[in-house]
Amino acid sequence: MTERRARGRLAITPSLVPRSLEQRGTPAMAWQARVITLFPEAFPGVLGLSLTGKALKDGLWGLEAIDLRPFGIGKHRNVDDTPAGGGAGMVLRADVLGRAVHMAMRGVPEDRTVWPLVCLSPRGRPFTQATARAWSRGRGITMVCGRFEGIDQRVLDHYAIEEVSLGDFVLTGGELAAQTMIDATVRLLPDVLGNAASIEEESFSGGLLEHPHYTRPAEWEGREIPSVLLSGNHAEVARWRRSQAEALTRARRPDLWADTEHEV
Ligand code: SAH
Repeated sequence: MTERRARGRLAITPSLVPRSLEQRGTPAMAWQARVITLFPEAFPGVLGLSLTGKALKDGLWGLEAIDLRPFGIGKHRNVDDTPAGGGAGMVLRADVLGRAVHMAMRGVPEDRTVWPLVCLSPRGRPFTQATARAWSRGRGITMVCGRFEGIDQRVLDHYAIEEVSLGDFVLTGGELAAQTMIDATVRLLPDVLGNAASIEEESFSGGLLEHPHYTRPAEWEGREIPSVLLSGNHAEVARWRRSQAEALTRARRPDLWADTEHEV
């Protein structure tokens, strides 16, 4: 119950009381993700690697995986039960999850635009680059990872939890969705990527998919790099990339293309 492992600035806290931001060693102002999960060992997962991992170690953002199990009922710490009305599978209990959510929201800003409270769910509002951008401007987020058939509706209603979806498919649990959304958000935080310009140019930033990339060697398997990219003419390069991005977006994502035209 008191076992606690800390790798860098990651805290996995199976205890009932969260350590304060100060105790965690992450600067209080750094963006924080609190994730309620039955599988805290799944974190940081991929987030612990590469740029997001380095930023986590450097304290540019913080992660707290809150183990749902200790909130469970009885000797076996049960967290789920059979669905009311019958049917297959199990549902995460309202009382168990409610206690975890209550704890995870303690001490966070009340304004939900500054600190959203979300549940990963295929029924949710689709997560997009705009969502990541909005979240990255806040102070942090609390996420609830569902498992089994999902969670008791009353917890969603009582805490006004917003459901967010990774896409139109069904995962086994919310953990991969949470990591994906945290990754997309954290890389937008100042100093995480290092090269801020790459954020402005990449896919979705201007409502377009990104142009193709090339690097050495100049010729490979008989294929050459488009000569304009080797011309040294920056204006020409920019024009070519723009036209490639537009052609790609029109061909692959007519929905995005239509939205882009609206904005112009
Ligand atoms: N019975 C549910 C699916 C449960 S899947 C339904 O039909 O809607 C188990 C858990 O995985 C969910 O509670 C959710 O937290 C997570 N999950 C599954 N698919 C997801 C998706 N597309 N986006 C975000 N979370 C998802």
